Amino acid sequence: MTNNETPEKRPLDFIRQIIAEDLKTGKHSGVVTRFPPEPNGFLHIGHAKSICLNFGVGEEFNGRCNLRFDDTNPSKEEEAYVEAIEKDVAWLGFNWGEKPHYASNYFAQLYDFAIELIKMGKAYVCQLSAGDVRTYRGTLTEPGKESPYRSRSIDENIDLFTKMKAGEFADGTHVLRAKIDMSSPNLNMRDPVLYRILNVAHHRTGDTWKIYPMYDYTHCLSDMLEGVTHSLCTLEFEDHRPLYNWVLDTLQTPCHPRQIEFSRLNLTYTVLSKRKLLKMVEGKHVEGWDDPRMLTISGLRRRGYTPAAIRNFCKIIGIGKSDSRIDMGVLENEIRNDLNERAPRRMCVLDPVKVIIDNFPEDLIENVTGKNHPQNPEMGERTIPFTKELYIERADFMEEPSRKYRRLGPGREVRLRYGFLVQYASHVKDEKSGEITEIHCTYDPESKGGSAPDGRKVKGTIHWVSATAGVPVEIKLYDRLFTEADPEADKDTDFLSFLNKDSMITLDKAVGEPCLADLHPGESVQFERQGYFCVDSKDVNTGKILFNRTVTLRDSWSTKSK
Ligand code: ATP
Ligand code: MG
Repeated sequence: MTNNETPEKRPLDFIRQIIAEDLKTGKHSGVVTRFPPEPNGFLHIGHAKSICLNFGVGEEFNGRCNLRFDDTNPSKEEEAYVEAIEKDVAWLGFNWGEKPHYASNYFAQLYDFAIELIKMGKAYVCQLSAGDVRTYRGTLTEPGKESPYRSRSIDENIDLFTKMKAGEFADGTHVLRAKIDMSSPNLNMRDPVLYRILNVAHHRTGDTWKIYPMYDYTHCLSDMLEGVTHSLCTLEFEDHRPLYNWVLDTLQTPCHPRQIEFSRLNLTYTVLSKRKLLKMVEGKHVEGWDDPRMLTISGLRRRGYTPAAIRNFCKIIGIGKSDSRIDMGVLENEIRNDLNERAPRRMCVLDPVKVIIDNFPEDLIENVTGKNHPQNPEMGERTIPFTKELYIERADFMEEPSRKYRRLGPGREVRLRYGFLVQYASHVKDEKSGEITEIHCTYDPESKGGSAPDGRKVKGTIHWVSATAGVPVEIKLYDRLFTEADPEADKDTDFLSFLNKDSMITLDKAVGEPCLADLHPGESVQFERQGYFCVDSKDVNTGKILFNRTVTLRDSWSTKSK
């Protein structure tokens, strides 16, 4: 944990209250939680909420949290996702102990439990097609119908299940179902499928298994086998809790974890389901899982987010039971607060126009000194070369400035930050385009550092970069990915139709002060007056340093059109 983190001062959320109570009453002597991602995609900011909760509880109550890969669907899962998930959880600052766990480690035990259920008359092999299983299940208003295979003998069930395991049947021809109650008001209890046949190689178990256990059956037993005390999951599993309990109760397992549900995180102007994120990646709407516009952990990292900012965000949003969409500004505020403290200040001109200091000697380099952080002297200083030819932002010059405009224009004197005071002399315009091509100024050689020896007041201060010593940089500005606050609101409209076509803008003329060349991939800086930027950690391009804009200096979301 770092100094930048918000201290815990809010009351315990309902989950922590339950856990604290369970420890107080002696129901449990220690706490074990788990974070159970399916390795079928990269983790996103929603997972971070679950990670911070599960690992956070483990840390706070002196217990532990397992990282468990819920790898029961080999057709969608990959080792590459396992590696990406481990990297992200570790980067967020959490520790899962010696090694991660895998649901696939328990396949043999789960199989034995299934045999046990069959022997108890609590599970049967069903040969209805997937479509028929669905039809027989009924609806919320109509009870289901019993499968004609429901009353098979135990021996026949054992025989068929063994054959399913041996690979004697084709995919989809047989399933193992729990025998519960086809008239239960809870559809999950109407003889749910426990095992299906999948003639697909698994990324860890290879060709060993031809049958794979379903999530609901696997999850509770994996929790139990790991001695989990509190199984924390999102609200969509609430209706699955009776099944979670049924499996453990029926098998009379020695340990019975308690499932507790909390609300998922949703954010405005983005989507967070892995299925939808995958669609964005596969459809090339973004440049991969770690595209800096994606709210994946790897995208956020590449964008310049810090683990502390993400953890703080998760703290602030808290844990509750009502679904909502959190304003993106809340997340941005956290990274702004964090980077405000830790990012060194630098100057970079994004949209340059040339300034020539007429009375400055041709080859002179005046080295001026800039503070790396206005409030933190420990972050030191750097030298910035001031030369005859400079760049300033195009927007920092106006041909006919209004009274309120404090920057450069005819008749104006401004301070070049850390440099000198300069007085407007003249400017040159391209006849055809009307674009200003050069601004001529004179400087006050006595004003090094930015203050006039005679104490005259100069109100405007602008940033600048030496045109001869500066380094060319490429900058990517990012905006919201979607044009609608809730791109998923209308179930009949494809969320992709709300993609923001201007979510990434590349600036290829930017020039930064020379010391930007010393930055390493992933390092963050504040470009004064512009925002926080991070050196891209992936893109090796044209010799220019590539920066991703992490966030603007102020909350632009709240003021933009909604
Ligand atoms: P997705 O819908 O994005 O595919 P998932 O729930 O299928 O998510 P899992 O890999 O199963 O993804 O998620 C692992 C854990 O993370 C689960 O316990 C799940 O409840 C939690 N989780 C996933 N998305 C969110 C979210 N948006 N907010 C909070 N927790 C989440
Ligand atoms: Mg899932």
